[in-house]
Amino acid sequence: MKNLFLIINLSIALFSFGQQSTYLDGNYKPEKGGSIYISEHQHVVDNIKPVSNPNAAIENVILMIGDGMGVSHVFAAMTANNDRLYIDQMPYVGLQKTKAKNRYRTDSAGAGSALATGEKTNYGSISVDDQGVPYPTILEYAAGNGYATGLVAACKITHATPAAFIAHVPKRNQYEDIATFFVTDSLDVFLGGGSDDFCKRETGVNLRPALEAKGFQVVTELAKLDGIKRGKVAGFFANGHLNAYPARGEFLVESTRKAIKLLKKNKKGFFLMVEGSQIDWAGHDNNLAYTIEEMLDFDRAVGEVLKFAKKDGHTLVIVTADHETGGLSVINGDIEGGMVEAKFNTTGHSSVLVPVFAYGPGAEKFSGIYENTAIFDKMMEAYGFKK
Ligand code: MG
Ligand code: ZN
Repeated sequence: MKNLFLIINLSIALFSFGQQSTYLDGNYKPEKGGSIYISEHQHVVDNIKPVSNPNAAIENVILMIGDGMGVSHVFAAMTANNDRLYIDQMPYVGLQKTKAKNRYRTDSAGAGSALATGEKTNYGSISVDDQGVPYPTILEYAAGNGYATGLVAACKITHATPAAFIAHVPKRNQYEDIATFFVTDSLDVFLGGGSDDFCKRETGVNLRPALEAKGFQVVTELAKLDGIKRGKVAGFFANGHLNAYPARGEFLVESTRKAIKLLKKNKKGFFLMVEGSQIDWAGHDNNLAYTIEEMLDFDRAVGEVLKFAKKDGHTLVIVTADHETGGLSVINGDIEGGMVEAKFNTTGHSSVLVPVFAYGPGAEKFSGIYENTAIFDKMMEAYGFKK
């Protein structure tokens, strides 16, 4: 009798395994227009407990932007990584509305400017009003109050998202103009691609001497970053954009770790923005593998930040997006196998609410549904800055 039970149980187990795993034998057909991706290298997610004192004074704010990252992007990555991400260790979750001042459907310039300045700006504009008058950014407020500041992006550092925090121009494609804003006392560390916008410019002079005159140590190899123990750093790891993951290697995790190391030397505190830039491009390409690999790389960078924040206890971490890209929907999946079946519905941006995840002191303020501009207000409040 006992044996019979065992046989029945075993055959049920085999049967259900056989059913679930048909995609592994290539028999599983995705829905029309859909695609499947099977992740083969899941990363370990260490338990990040909540900070011990949620009322501790906030010294540092780390804002992480997954460009184009909607809820489906997070869920696709979660499934691919066996149901576990660093992002889902962040206890407070909200939703933000992304529309630009003059368009229902935003771009990264309009949305990045809103996050950076607390003002709705026009599609394509970088932190200026309709007349081109600058709106001060959270990074500039931090610098003005004696805090250290940094920007890390997995693309040209002059691209819309990082640019929105330091530059003020009417058009996002004014890359060489945007580069001139990085020659400033307001910025301590920037790591990304785009050296040509600084050093091989079609108009004007090479900005490298000016950067050095401002105290920036210019680095072009990731390995050399570790040799720098203090001071300002301009890190260029590509002439233009960085490669997609995994071709660019561990750039995002390493740069994030290094930026924190340098910025935390400031006794008052710091502001750091880290961008998972290419989640957006993967969405424009309707490429599920690219999307998930970029999401997982971003999540590992989130893990790096959360480990620091837990240890530090005075760091507020916000993970959000500027908008959603691709109209991604997750149709089916297999958690054990890291399989995701999903479908893209546009090669452009969509207009849906995007998620906001928060960790650390002040994190509870990020619950709810609000405009993207409110994120700036909440960061200002966290620091105690006055406009
Ligand atoms: Mg971007
Ligand atoms: Zn885009």
